[in-house]
Amino acid sequence: MIALRDVLGRKEPSFSFEFFPPKTDAATRSLWQTIRRVERLAPAFVSVTYGAGGSSRDRTVELTKHIAAATTLRPIAHLTAVGHSVTELRHIIGQYADAGVRDILALRGDPPGDPNAPWAPHPEGFTHAHELVSLIRGLGDFSIGVAAFPERHPRSPDWDSDIRHFVAKCRAGADYAITQMFFHVEDYLRLRDRVVAAGCDLPVIPEIMPATDIRQVGRFARLSGAAFPEELAHRLDAARDRPADGHRIGVEYATAMAERLLAEGAPGLHYITLNRSTAALEIHGNVLNSRSAQHVLANHH
Ligand code: FAD
Repeated sequence: MIALRDVLGRKEPSFSFEFFPPKTDAATRSLWQTIRRVERLAPAFVSVTYGAGGSSRDRTVELTKHIAAATTLRPIAHLTAVGHSVTELRHIIGQYADAGVRDILALRGDPPGDPNAPWAPHPEGFTHAHELVSLIRGLGDFSIGVAAFPERHPRSPDWDSDIRHFVAKCRAGADYAITQMFFHVEDYLRLRDRVVAAGCDLPVIPEIMPATDIRQVGRFARLSGAAFPEELAHRLDAARDRPADGHRIGVEYATAMAERLLAEGAPGLHYITLNRSTAALEIHGNVLNSRSAQHVLANHH
Protein backbone atom coordinates (compact mmCIF):
# COMPACT_ATOMS: atom_id res chain seq x y z
CA MET A 1 0.00 0.00 0.00
CA ILE A 2 1.28 3.50 -0.84
CA ALA A 3 2.22 5.44 2.32
CA LEU A 4 -0.37 7.98 3.43
CA ARG A 5 2.19 10.80 3.30
CA ASP A 6 2.48 10.14 -0.46
CA VAL A 7 -1.29 10.00 -0.92
CA LEU A 8 -1.63 13.36 0.84
CA GLY A 9 1.07 14.87 -1.36
CA ARG A 10 -1.16 14.52 -4.44
CA LYS A 11 -2.85 17.44 -6.14
CA GLU A 12 -6.42 16.25 -5.55
CA PRO A 13 -7.75 16.89 -2.03
CA SER A 14 -8.18 13.87 0.22
CA PHE A 15 -11.51 12.93 1.79
CA SER A 16 -11.70 10.97 5.01
CA PHE A 17 -14.10 9.99 7.78
CA GLU A 18 -13.82 9.62 11.56
CA PHE A 19 -15.44 6.92 13.74
CA PHE A 20 -15.38 6.08 17.43
CA PRO A 21 -15.38 2.56 18.93
CA PRO A 22 -19.01 1.54 19.62
CA LYS A 23 -20.08 0.17 23.01
CA THR A 24 -22.98 -2.17 22.19
CA ASP A 25 -23.73 -4.83 19.60
CA ALA A 26 -26.47 -2.68 18.08
CA ALA A 27 -24.09 0.29 17.82
CA THR A 28 -21.47 -1.98 16.25
CA ARG A 29 -23.92 -3.18 13.60
CA SER A 30 -24.95 0.37 12.76
CA LEU A 31 -21.30 1.50 12.55
CA TRP A 32 -20.53 -1.32 10.13
CA GLN A 33 -23.38 -0.18 7.89
CA THR A 34 -21.75 3.25 7.87
CA ILE A 35 -18.32 1.75 7.22
CA ARG A 36 -19.63 -0.19 4.22
CA ARG A 37 -21.25 2.96 2.80
CA VAL A 38 -18.08 4.95 3.32
CA GLU A 39 -16.01 2.16 1.73
CA ARG A 40 -17.90 2.57 -1.56
CA LEU A 41 -16.64 6.17 -1.73
CA ALA A 42 -12.98 5.04 -1.59
CA PRO A 43 -11.82 7.74 0.87
CA ALA A 44 -8.10 8.32 1.46
CA PHE A 45 -8.50 6.99 5.00
CA VAL A 46 -10.85 6.54 7.94
CA SER A 47 -9.80 7.18 11.54
CA VAL A 48 -10.78 5.60 14.85
CA THR A 49 -10.67 7.70 18.02
CA TYR A 50 -9.03 6.57 21.29
CA GLY A 51 -10.94 6.73 24.58
CA ALA A 52 -9.85 8.17 27.90
CA GLY A 53 -9.25 4.75 29.47
CA GLY A 54 -10.57 1.24 30.17
CA SER A 55 -12.19 -1.11 27.71
CA SER A 56 -12.93 1.50 25.04
CA ARG A 57 -9.19 1.57 24.31
CA ASP A 58 -9.13 -2.15 23.48
CA ARG A 59 -12.15 -1.54 21.26
CA THR A 60 -10.19 1.09 19.32
CA VAL A 61 -7.38 -1.39 18.70
CA GLU A 62 -9.84 -4.15 17.72
CA LEU A 63 -11.93 -1.93 15.43
CA THR A 64 -8.86 -0.49 13.70
CA LYS A 65 -7.41 -3.96 13.10
CA HIS A 66 -10.81 -5.25 11.91
CA ILE A 67 -11.16 -2.40 9.39
CA ALA A 68 -7.64 -3.18 8.11
CA ALA A 69 -8.43 -6.88 7.77
CA ALA A 70 -12.01 -6.83 6.48
CA THR A 71 -12.30 -3.77 4.23
CA THR A 72 -10.43 -1.95 1.48
CA LEU A 73 -10.16 1.11 3.74
CA ARG A 74 -6.96 2.54 5.23
CA PRO A 75 -7.58 2.91 8.99
CA ILE A 76 -5.71 5.46 11.07
CA ALA A 77 -5.53 4.65 14.78
CA HIS A 78 -5.71 7.62 17.17
CA LEU A 79 -3.39 7.01 20.12
CA THR A 80 -2.92 9.18 23.23
CA ALA A 81 -0.25 9.27 25.93
CA VAL A 82 -2.87 9.46 28.72
CA GLY A 83 -2.30 6.90 31.47
CA HIS A 84 0.22 4.87 29.46
CA SER A 85 3.84 4.07 30.25
CA VAL A 86 6.22 4.15 27.29
CA THR A 87 6.35 0.34 27.44
CA GLU A 88 2.57 0.14 27.03
CA LEU A 89 2.65 2.58 24.14
CA ARG A 90 5.35 0.48 22.45
CA HIS A 91 3.17 -2.59 22.88
CA ILE A 92 0.13 -0.93 21.26
CA ILE A 93 2.20 0.40 18.37
CA GLY A 94 3.69 -3.08 17.92
CA GLN A 95 0.20 -4.59 17.73
CA TYR A 96 -0.65 -2.18 14.93
CA ALA A 97 2.54 -2.99 13.07
CA ASP A 98 1.76 -6.72 13.34
CA ALA A 99 -1.75 -6.13 11.97
CA GLY A 100 -0.43 -4.15 9.01
CA VAL A 101 -1.78 -0.83 10.34
CA ARG A 102 0.82 1.77 9.32
CA ASP A 103 -1.03 4.95 10.25
CA ILE A 104 -1.23 6.51 13.70
CA LEU A 105 -2.53 9.90 14.85
CA ALA A 106 -0.20 10.74 17.75
CA LEU A 107 -1.90 12.75 20.50
CA ARG A 108 -1.11 13.86 24.02
CA GLY A 109 -4.74 13.51 25.16
CA ASP A 110 -6.53 15.14 28.10
CA PRO A 111 -6.93 14.11 31.75
CA PRO A 112 -9.70 11.48 32.00
CA GLY A 113 -12.96 12.69 33.54
CA ASP A 114 -12.45 16.43 33.24
CA PRO A 115 -10.56 17.40 30.06
CA ASN A 116 -9.79 20.79 31.61
CA ALA A 117 -8.22 19.41 34.80
CA PRO A 118 -4.45 19.92 35.24
CA TRP A 119 -2.46 17.58 32.99
CA ALA A 120 -0.51 14.89 34.86
CA PRO A 121 1.70 12.58 32.81
CA HIS A 122 2.04 8.87 33.61
CA PRO A 123 5.21 8.54 35.77
CA GLU A 124 6.83 6.43 33.05
CA GLY A 125 5.06 8.10 30.17
CA PHE A 126 5.12 11.21 28.03
CA THR A 127 4.26 14.85 28.70
CA HIS A 128 3.71 16.08 25.13
CA ALA A 129 2.69 14.67 21.78
CA HIS A 130 6.07 15.27 20.11
CA GLU A 131 7.56 12.54 22.34
CA LEU A 132 4.98 10.05 21.09
CA VAL A 133 5.70 11.11 17.50
CA SER A 134 9.43 10.38 18.05
CA LEU A 135 8.66 7.00 19.62
CA ILE A 136 6.46 5.91 16.68
CA ARG A 137 9.01 7.23 14.17
CA GLY A 138 11.66 5.02 15.78
CA LEU A 139 9.47 1.90 15.75
CA GLY A 140 8.84 1.41 12.06
CA ASP A 141 7.66 2.81 8.79
CA PHE A 142 4.51 4.60 9.96
CA SER A 143 2.81 7.65 8.52
CA ILE A 144 2.17 9.84 11.56
CA GLY A 145 -0.49 12.50 12.03
CA VAL A 146 -0.75 15.13 14.76
CA ALA A 147 -3.43 17.51 16.05
CA ALA A 148 -3.70 21.18 15.04
CA PHE A 149 -5.92 23.83 16.61
CA PRO A 150 -7.49 26.60 14.47
CA GLU A 151 -8.43 28.51 17.64
CA ARG A 152 -5.10 27.47 19.27
CA HIS A 153 -4.90 24.78 21.92
CA PRO A 154 -7.00 25.78 24.97
CA ARG A 155 -3.93 25.38 27.20
CA SER A 156 -1.61 27.46 25.02
CA PRO A 157 -0.98 30.85 26.64
CA ASP A 158 -0.36 32.55 23.28
CA TRP A 159 -0.09 31.89 19.55
CA ASP A 160 3.71 31.97 19.45
CA SER A 161 4.13 29.06 21.84
CA ASP A 162 1.24 27.17 20.25
CA ILE A 163 2.81 27.33 16.80
CA ARG A 164 6.33 26.67 18.14
CA HIS A 165 5.15 23.46 19.80
CA PHE A 166 3.13 22.47 16.76
CA VAL A 167 6.20 22.85 14.56
CA ALA A 168 8.27 20.83 17.07
CA LYS A 169 5.76 18.01 16.65
CA CYS A 170 6.18 18.20 12.88
CA ARG A 171 9.97 18.20 13.14
CA ALA A 172 9.80 15.14 15.43
CA GLY A 173 8.55 13.24 12.38
CA ALA A 174 4.87 13.98 11.72
CA ASP A 175 3.67 13.70 8.12
CA TYR A 176 0.38 15.60 8.32
CA ALA A 177 -2.00 17.22 10.79
CA ILE A 178 -5.76 17.09 11.31
CA THR A 179 -7.47 20.04 12.99
CA GLN A 180 -9.79 20.25 15.92
CA MET A 181 -13.38 21.02 14.88
CA PHE A 182 -14.03 24.68 14.11
CA PHE A 183 -16.87 26.70 12.63
CA HIS A 184 -15.18 29.76 11.10
CA VAL A 185 -13.10 29.20 7.96
CA GLU A 186 -10.93 32.24 8.82
CA ASP A 187 -9.63 30.46 11.93
CA TYR A 188 -8.32 27.63 9.76
CA LEU A 189 -6.77 30.02 7.23
CA ARG A 190 -4.99 32.01 9.95
CA LEU A 191 -3.61 28.82 11.51
CA ARG A 192 -2.38 27.60 8.13
CA ASP A 193 -0.68 30.93 7.43
CA ARG A 194 0.99 30.88 10.83
CA VAL A 195 2.26 27.34 10.29
CA VAL A 196 3.64 28.23 6.85
CA ALA A 197 5.23 31.42 8.24
CA ALA A 198 6.98 29.23 10.85
CA GLY A 199 8.58 27.27 7.99
CA CYS A 200 6.41 24.15 8.18
CA ASP A 201 4.82 22.77 4.99
CA LEU A 202 2.90 19.82 6.42
CA PRO A 203 -0.63 19.26 5.05
CA VAL A 204 -3.11 20.51 7.69
CA ILE A 205 -6.43 18.76 7.02
CA PRO A 206 -9.50 20.59 8.33
CA GLU A 207 -12.02 18.59 10.33
CA ILE A 208 -15.67 19.06 9.38
CA MET A 209 -18.23 18.61 12.14
CA PRO A 210 -21.86 18.73 10.95
CA ALA A 211 -23.79 20.72 13.61
CA THR A 212 -27.42 19.75 13.08
CA ASP A 213 -28.94 20.05 16.56
CA ILE A 214 -28.66 22.98 18.99
CA ARG A 215 -28.41 20.49 21.87
CA GLN A 216 -24.98 19.32 20.57
CA VAL A 217 -23.48 22.79 20.62
CA GLY A 218 -22.70 23.06 24.36
CA ARG A 219 -20.96 19.69 24.18
CA PHE A 220 -18.82 20.82 21.23
CA ALA A 221 -17.70 23.86 23.19
CA ARG A 222 -16.88 21.80 26.29
CA LEU A 223 -14.87 19.27 24.31
CA SER A 224 -13.08 21.52 21.88
CA GLY A 225 -13.53 25.13 23.02
CA ALA A 226 -14.63 25.88 19.43
CA ALA A 227 -16.48 29.20 19.07
CA PHE A 228 -19.90 28.62 17.57
CA PRO A 229 -21.36 31.16 15.09
CA GLU A 230 -24.23 33.05 16.73
CA GLU A 231 -26.39 33.14 13.66
CA LEU A 232 -26.08 29.39 13.11
CA ALA A 233 -26.92 28.84 16.80
CA HIS A 234 -30.07 30.98 16.40
CA ARG A 235 -31.18 29.10 13.32
CA LEU A 236 -30.57 25.70 14.94
CA ASP A 237 -32.38 26.85 18.07
CA ALA A 238 -35.40 27.92 16.02
CA ALA A 239 -35.39 24.42 14.48
CA ARG A 240 -34.98 22.73 17.90
CA ASP A 241 -38.21 20.73 17.50
CA ARG A 242 -37.93 20.17 13.76
CA PRO A 243 -35.01 17.72 13.35
CA ALA A 244 -35.29 17.62 9.54
CA ASP A 245 -34.87 21.41 9.38
CA GLY A 246 -31.95 21.32 11.83
CA HIS A 247 -30.33 18.65 9.70
CA ARG A 248 -30.75 20.73 6.52
CA ILE A 249 -29.39 23.88 8.19
CA GLY A 250 -26.34 22.05 9.59
CA VAL A 251 -25.59 20.28 6.31
CA GLU A 252 -25.89 23.56 4.34
CA TYR A 253 -23.52 25.38 6.72
CA ALA A 254 -20.93 22.60 6.72
CA THR A 255 -21.16 22.24 2.92
CA ALA A 256 -20.48 25.95 2.47
CA MET A 257 -17.51 25.71 4.86
CA ALA A 258 -16.12 22.64 3.11
CA GLU A 259 -16.40 24.21 -0.35
CA ARG A 260 -14.71 27.41 0.80
CA LEU A 261 -11.91 25.45 2.50
CA LEU A 262 -11.17 23.55 -0.71
CA ALA A 263 -11.36 26.77 -2.75
CA GLU A 264 -8.77 28.23 -0.35
CA GLY A 265 -6.49 25.25 -1.04
CA ALA A 266 -7.11 23.01 1.99
CA PRO A 267 -5.40 19.66 1.27
CA GLY A 268 -8.50 17.62 2.15
CA LEU A 269 -11.55 17.31 4.39
CA HIS A 270 -11.87 15.01 7.40
CA TYR A 271 -15.54 14.42 8.27
CA ILE A 272 -16.70 13.51 11.77
CA THR A 273 -19.47 10.95 11.31
CA LEU A 274 -20.49 10.19 14.93
CA ASN A 275 -20.74 6.69 13.41
CA ARG A 276 -23.80 7.69 11.40
CA SER A 277 -23.28 8.40 7.79
CA THR A 278 -26.16 10.70 6.92
CA ALA A 279 -24.93 14.26 7.50
CA ALA A 280 -21.25 13.61 6.63
CA LEU A 281 -22.13 11.73 3.46
CA GLU A 282 -24.59 14.41 2.35
CA ILE A 283 -21.99 17.11 2.83
CA HIS A 284 -19.46 15.03 0.96
CA GLY A 285 -21.98 14.41 -1.86
CA ASN A 286 -22.66 18.16 -2.11
CA VAL A 287 -18.93 18.93 -2.23
CA LEU A 288 -18.32 16.35 -4.96
CA ASN A 289 -21.27 17.68 -7.01
CA SER A 290 -20.07 21.24 -6.86
CA ARG A 291 -16.51 20.17 -7.72
CA SER A 292 -17.69 18.27 -10.78
CA ALA A 293 -19.88 21.26 -11.80
CA GLN A 294 -16.82 23.53 -11.52
CA HIS A 295 -14.81 21.05 -13.56
CA VAL A 296 -17.44 21.07 -16.33
CA LEU A 297 -17.49 24.90 -16.34
CA ALA A 298 -13.67 25.09 -16.42
CA ASN A 299 -13.60 22.76 -19.43
CA HIS A 300 -16.03 25.02 -21.33
CA HIS A 301 -13.71 28.03 -21.16
P1 FAD B 1 0.45 18.54 22.53
O1 FAD B 1 0.90 18.67 21.11
O2 FAD B 1 1.30 17.84 23.48
O3 FAD B 1 -0.05 19.92 23.02
C1 FAD B 1 -0.75 20.10 24.25
C2 FAD B 1 -0.40 21.48 24.83
O4 FAD B 1 0.95 21.48 25.27
C3 FAD B 1 -0.48 22.64 23.82
O5 FAD B 1 -0.89 23.80 24.47
C4 FAD B 1 0.96 22.76 23.33
O6 FAD B 1 1.24 24.07 22.83
C5 FAD B 1 1.70 22.50 24.62
N1 FAD B 1 3.06 21.95 24.40
C6 FAD B 1 3.43 21.05 23.46
N2 FAD B 1 4.75 20.78 23.57
C7 FAD B 1 5.21 21.53 24.61
C8 FAD B 1 6.48 21.69 25.23
N3 FAD B 1 7.56 21.03 24.79
N4 FAD B 1 6.57 22.55 26.28
C9 FAD B 1 5.50 23.22 26.73
N5 FAD B 1 4.26 23.12 26.18
C10 FAD B 1 4.12 22.28 25.14
N6 FAD B 1 -8.18 13.01 22.37
C11 FAD B 1 -8.41 11.73 22.76
O7 FAD B 1 -8.37 11.45 23.97
N7 FAD B 1 -8.67 10.73 21.86
C12 FAD B 1 -8.72 10.97 20.51
O8 FAD B 1 -8.94 10.05 19.72
C13 FAD B 1 -8.49 12.30 20.06
N8 FAD B 1 -8.51 12.60 18.74
C14 FAD B 1 -8.22 13.87 18.33
C15 FAD B 1 -8.19 14.14 16.95
C16 FAD B 1 -7.91 15.41 16.49
C17 FAD B 1 -7.89 15.68 15.01
C18 FAD B 1 -7.66 16.47 17.41
C19 FAD B 1 -7.39 17.85 16.92
C20 FAD B 1 -7.68 16.21 18.79
C21 FAD B 1 -7.95 14.92 19.25
N9 FAD B 1 -7.97 14.62 20.62
C22 FAD B 1 -8.21 13.32 21.04
C23 FAD B 1 -7.82 15.67 21.63
C24 FAD B 1 -6.33 15.89 22.07
O9 FAD B 1 -5.84 14.74 22.69
C25 FAD B 1 -6.34 17.10 23.01
O10 FAD B 1 -6.72 18.24 22.32
C26 FAD B 1 -5.07 17.35 23.80
O11 FAD B 1 -5.34 18.35 24.77
C27 FAD B 1 -3.91 17.89 22.96
O12 FAD B 1 -3.29 16.91 22.29
P2 FAD B 1 -1.99 17.27 21.39
O13 FAD B 1 -1.64 15.99 20.76
O14 FAD B 1 -2.24 18.45 20.52
O15 FAD B 1 -0.96 17.66 22.53
